[in-house]
Amino acid sequence: MSILSSSLCPSSVRVTEVGLRDGLQNEPRVLVTEDKLRLLNALYDAGLRRFELTSFVSPRAVPALADAEELVVAAHGLDGAHFSALVPNLRGAERALEAGVDRVVLFVSASETHNAKNVNRTIGQSLADFEAIVARLAGSGVEVDGAIATAFGCPFEGEVAPERVGQIARRLQDMGIGDVTLGDTTGMATPPVISRLHESLTRLAPEVVTTLHFHNTRGLALANVMQGLALGIGRYESAIGGLGGCPFAPGASGNLATEELVYLLTELGYETGVSLEGLIQASQLASRLIGRDLPSQVAKAGPRLKRHARSSVATASS
Ligand code: ZN
Repeated sequence: MSILSSSLCPSSVRVTEVGLRDGLQNEPRVLVTEDKLRLLNALYDAGLRRFELTSFVSPRAVPALADAEELVVAAHGLDGAHFSALVPNLRGAERALEAGVDRVVLFVSASETHNAKNVNRTIGQSLADFEAIVARLAGSGVEVDGAIATAFGCPFEGEVAPERVGQIARRLQDMGIGDVTLGDTTGMATPPVISRLHESLTRLAPEVVTTLHFHNTRGLALANVMQGLALGIGRYESAIGGLGGCPFAPGASGNLATEELVYLLTELGYETGVSLEGLIQASQLASRLIGRDLPSQVAKAGPRLKRHARSSVATASS
């Protein structure tokens, strides 16, 4: 149970790690499958159990995720882990089904311009595609989730009306999609924007369960998580180390870092089942594998009660 004062605060929080998909898809250095599996194992050993593993997009469009089938098949050995994958179209859904994912995520942008840049479709066309995919996967045992990108604002169109996001969520609800992620693709969410969006979804798509996906582009990701918790939202996505960005969204930078999210949740009194030390090791591994520093502050500083030897720094005056 959390120590937060709002009576709406969720009693438990679910964390989904998206680093292997959202984090790696735009990295200049493409990781081989074996290295992705090393990172996945480190995240699993830290206690994480929910992973967005990859995206069944065209290997030509996103070379970093060209090993989608291989990765999903290889990941199957991890006991108790749940794997999802993004699918852009019916072909992607069939590939995901064949590879054996537990869940697929159908994604659309709340802004026409971003949707056109991202998948070369209108929002209406994307939603029509979703209906065909939902019909194709019915009875297959694969769950279908939805994700709405640029839900808190668009780098091309500016403000996105909360009603528009609510209406898209309603279409998803009507298709039988019960879990919807709101993506803050370029870090435009702020606590009041989240409140307005939450109000719209509660009114227009009351059966949808929301997951929040923040980027720390403007430094507000953790403040936004606090706002989400205060509104009663208990599902969050994050990427180890703060990996990530989006090539079709100017100014997009890293995701909320998983170790920062887990640090906050632990301090608030939530049982996450995740070891902060284990996440920091996974974050350092991610940094070594992609060959650059990652933005996570917690990975740099260590846990709050980490104690340093007195001899590790010089004394100020002598
Ligand atoms: Zn992201």
